[in-house]
Amino acid sequence: MNDATLVLNAGSSSIKYAVYRSETPTECLVHGQIDRIGLGPQHRSNGTDHPLPLASDATHSDILDWLTTHLAANTPGLTIAAAGHRVVHGGQDFVAPTLVTGNVVARLEALAPLAPGHQPHNLAGIAAIARRWPNIPQVACFDTAFHRTQPQIAQMFAIPRALTDGGVLRYGFHGLSYHYISTQLPTHLDNPDGRVVVAHLGNGASMCALHNRQSVATTMGFTAIDGLVMGRRCGELDPGVIFYMLRDLNMTVTEVETQLSRESGLLGVSGISSDMRDLLASDDPAAKDAIDLFVYQACKKIGALAATLGGIDALVFTGGIGENSAPIRDRILQGCAWLGAKIDHRANAQAAPRITTPDSGLSAHVIPTDEEGIIAQETRALTCAPSPLVE
Ligand code: ADP
Repeated sequence: MNDATLVLNAGSSSIKYAVYRSETPTECLVHGQIDRIGLGPQHRSNGTDHPLPLASDATHSDILDWLTTHLAANTPGLTIAAAGHRVVHGGQDFVAPTLVTGNVVARLEALAPLAPGHQPHNLAGIAAIARRWPNIPQVACFDTAFHRTQPQIAQMFAIPRALTDGGVLRYGFHGLSYHYISTQLPTHLDNPDGRVVVAHLGNGASMCALHNRQSVATTMGFTAIDGLVMGRRCGELDPGVIFYMLRDLNMTVTEVETQLSRESGLLGVSGISSDMRDLLASDDPAAKDAIDLFVYQACKKIGALAATLGGIDALVFTGGIGENSAPIRDRILQGCAWLGAKIDHRANAQAAPRITTPDSGLSAHVIPTDEEGIIAQETRALTCAPSPLVE
């Protein structure tokens, strides 16, 4: 029997999972995804679609129980010996991967109001593993932890001090992706410790300014709604819009939250789709507006993050759009001409790792992210080395 590490990344409408041989966590044996949860879930594993014997309204819990049973039956010769989880919010206290205990779960539940679309699903994953394999160690890996290296000022809002002291801070997210990318910079960049902006452009989208491969600033804030235009989230917004919706449009808090976090972004502006592929394929003027606004905000935030770094040496694209959409990278790089970016069109069309010309003042790169891989590494590090439990 070989020991294996199971990684779960349980999101609002999808559950990604991966199984790694524990001896070499970078060797991924199975990588799969169940998406369209709530709309008739679909299962894809190791690049192939598989039937999913579940009702179309199956809940996260139903799907997780099916998944753990399925994995136990379909990984012969492997013993699941540890599990690692993506946990979106670690608040101020969880600044590193943490072994899960009852106390840790209770503290993570208390953070659920800060990430209502994600945290309960992350915790459902932890509960499902405990039901199936009650005795294996579980590790929580946080999307917020990577950003705790930021200067205090970068983490503050200009609000009354009592709110700040109570935890209303810029936490930042996508930290597992940025951590993974930071480990890849020495392979791709001449100066990996220089001033780098990483653009994680997916359904959720954010950017992170790195110096010495540590987070200096990021576009997401207290929640994952702030910053860039996303698939369904509005990104940067004047808080006055919220007062107007509540007071003058007589909307409830839930209605406002739904509009800004589920019905805005690319979907809200286009009225067509939250998926960048659909918009790029459309000739509807509203689809063009959505793409234009996505690119405009991305360029604006690169400028802002470059300011926090005192300049910029390299730009890295990752995430579903960043890795796969040459036209969007092209347009963002055109908007960075003032920073010295000169695009290499052939390299960009191929997503070659470096997509700017040799004489470009700003080098740009495409580096696929691997959130599950970094969770496996962190889980292995914590479960194979003796480590005190965090209570
Ligand atoms: P999530 O945040 O859910 O993990 P992903 O990182 O998978 O999202 O990114 C999903 C986004 O990537 C969608 O908007 C999708 O349209 C976009 N995308 C994927 N492939 C392409 C492509 N070839 N061209 C343009 N956009 C793409």
